[in-house]
Parts: sequence; structure tokens; C-alpha cells
Amino acid sequence: MFTNVGWHAHINTTGHVYGAQAHEGPTNRPRQTWVQATVTPAPPGDWRPVQGTSFYFKQDGQCPTQHSGWLSSLRPAVLASFVGHGARDNDPESWDRMERLRKLLTEVFGVPAPELYLPNTADGNRPRLNCDPVYLLVQGITMPQQVAILKKKYHVTKELQVHFSDLSLAPSTWIGSFEKKDAFGSMTMEQTLPFFIATFRRDFLYAFTKDTIERDKKLNHLSKWGTTPTDIAVEIVIQSITVREVPRRSTGGGNDPIIQLYCESPTFHPHDWIVWRDMVREQPFSTEHGARASLIRTEVKCKMCHSVDHPIGLCDLPAVPGWNGPTIEEVVNWSQSDSYQEDRGKPTSSADGLSSEGTLDLPGLSLAKHERVKRDCMFPADAQERFPPRPRSL
Ligand SMILES: [Zn+2]
Repeated sequence: MFTNVGWHAHINTTGHVYGAQAHEGPTNRPRQTWVQATVTPAPPGDWRPVQGTSFYFKQDGQCPTQHSGWLSSLRPAVLASFVGHGARDNDPESWDRMERLRKLLTEVFGVPAPELYLPNTADGNRPRLNCDPVYLLVQGITMPQQVAILKKKYHVTKELQVHFSDLSLAPSTWIGSFEKKDAFGSMTMEQTLPFFIATFRRDFLYAFTKDTIERDKKLNHLSKWGTTPTDIAVEIVIQSITVREVPRRSTGGGNDPIIQLYCESPTFHPHDWIVWRDMVREQPFSTEHGARASLIRTEVKCKMCHSVDHPIGLCDLPAVPGWNGPTIEEVVNWSQSDSYQEDRGKPTSSADGLSSEGTLDLPGLSLAKHERVKRDCMFPADAQERFPPRPRSL
């Protein structure tokens, strides 16, 4: 990090340039911009939601009994997670991080005596650095303070980077990641979206979605749809479909982008959502006569924002204009060091053991570490060929 009296240089990891270029000078290098070292503003279009693989993703790695206790508490509460850190990280900054969070809650949100509760791990061991569980409980707040904190979503300064979320069990909107090149080539997302929508309208998936909605409506007061007519509910689900292209480089540096598919859940039933989502992601999304888009089956969780729809190498938090938080390289470096965790349990990263065909330019790392970084940072381009489909329970 280069410093310059109250300002600092942000190395833009995506190659896109935001803000004014630095003035000519000894520290002016390509791909750097100067941003004010204050609070990072919300990006255009707002912060991207953190996605999970089940209704219960916020308690991943946490003792379920304790999380149930958190959920059943009637006091106002929010969850907080640190960018690039697990809730139980024992690095030298961990004490200061908690104190800075306490100070933020008092000075910015007016909480006189914030209560911060750390999660117990599911297996009783201390987790590896920057692994689950990542959420801690914040109480001692009023309802208006809860609303204000949740509205803020992220607070990112050079000293503290924290994300706030509610305790809801609402499902994620992320359905899956697909290889783009063979199925959709250089088409724009506007050109690609109709083919995804058309697949949802095909007889099988349309009927399956309709059936899932009908089952939800039998949940009575727990139903998402209540008395909404089923045909209208199906349309609401289909109209919510969005696709997003994520740039990715293959070995050798060629373009090998990914398509992310998002859609509102047709149900508030936790298991029905997983069955429906798994059915959707197995559909043959393609143009009329072209190849189907390959589903990326590798499970990942971003070490920066803890979302499951991308690995850290594809995280766009550092590309947020005015980003004051850590770089991808910094998070990867401190996440690889386990010297501060004395009694850690077994590894929880689902990406362990994978090799990668993706590439990420991270200068300054040893070759062995670089290989581990590549493994944890990128979607392996050939993973779907080496890993069989997950069995589905219908
Ligand atoms: Zn991320």
C-alpha cells in the first residue's frame, strides 16, 4: 500500500480504472488511482448481496444450538462479518477489529453499550484463519438502530471493513455459474437473458416451478405466496431472472468468462428451494441450435466477502470505487498463514484439493504459495469434467 498523507493508492485488480488518474510523480504507476481514505461509498447499483447455498448459510460452521438461540432472541439484533476474516480469527488485529466495531456502533449509530457475541464452532475447535463461522451477533441496539445498521450494509474504512446483515433465513437468489464461451460466445447479457428465460418457460421447468409454488402455498402462514394466484407467482419468479457476466482469464490469458444466473425463490420451504434450485441449474441453457452452457460444479466461497457465487479471485469488492479495504493479495496472504490459530480444527474450505486451470497474477508470492492461491482464487476451467454431478434427493 502506498501512502500519501491522508490519501492512499488503490491497486485496481480488475484492470478497470475508476476516478481521476494519479498526478505524475515517483509513485504514479499503471493501474493505480488515488482515492480519499474515508468511508467507501456504496457502489452504483448498491452492494452485491452475499449468497449462500442454503437457507442456513449464515450459520455455516457455527454450533446449531447456539444459532437457534440467536434466532429465537426477541431483542433487536444484526449479524456482522469482517471483510476477509472469519469471526474467530486470532490474528494480531483481532482485538482491535472488535474494538473498532464497538466504536463504530457507538459513534456512528449511537449505540451506548454495543453487545458483541462470537459464534461457537460446530466442532468445538478454533477454525482455520478466515474460515466459517464468519458471522457474529450484535445486540444492545434499538429497532431504529437495527434498521439504520442494516440499511448501511457495509462500513469500509482503512481501519475497519464490516458487513451487516439480518438474521433472516430467506433464500439466496444465486442459482449457479456456467461456462459462457462454448454456449453463448461473445453475446451480451441482454442477448443471453432471453435464452435463460425461454428455458424457464419450457414445459418441464415451468411445471416444476408451478408445482413448487403450489407446495409453498400449502405452508399456510409460512407461505411466500399466500393467496397469490399460482400463474402470477410463476410470472413473478420468471421476471426476476437476471444473468451477469464475470470476466475470467484462462491459462494463457485468453477470455473465458462465466455467466452467473440469479432468480427469486418460488418457495419459503428450505428443502424445496434446494430441490428446485438443483433442478434449475441442471437445465440445458443454450441458444436454439448451440451447445449447452456447462454448469460449474466446483463449490467455492469468497475469502473476501464470504459469498458462494465466486472465489476471491473474481471478487469485485476491491473494484468498488473508493475501496478502502484490503486487496485480494493481502487477504490471500493472511488467509494462508495459520500461525495465529493454535488449536484449529480440520480445514473447512470445500475448494481444498483442487488444482486450477485459471490464472491470477499475484506477484511476490512463492511458486508453491502461488499454486495454492490459484487453487483458492479461481474456478477451475475443467472442474465440471473431473467432478461428477452431485446426487439429488427428490
Ligand atoms: Zn467476494
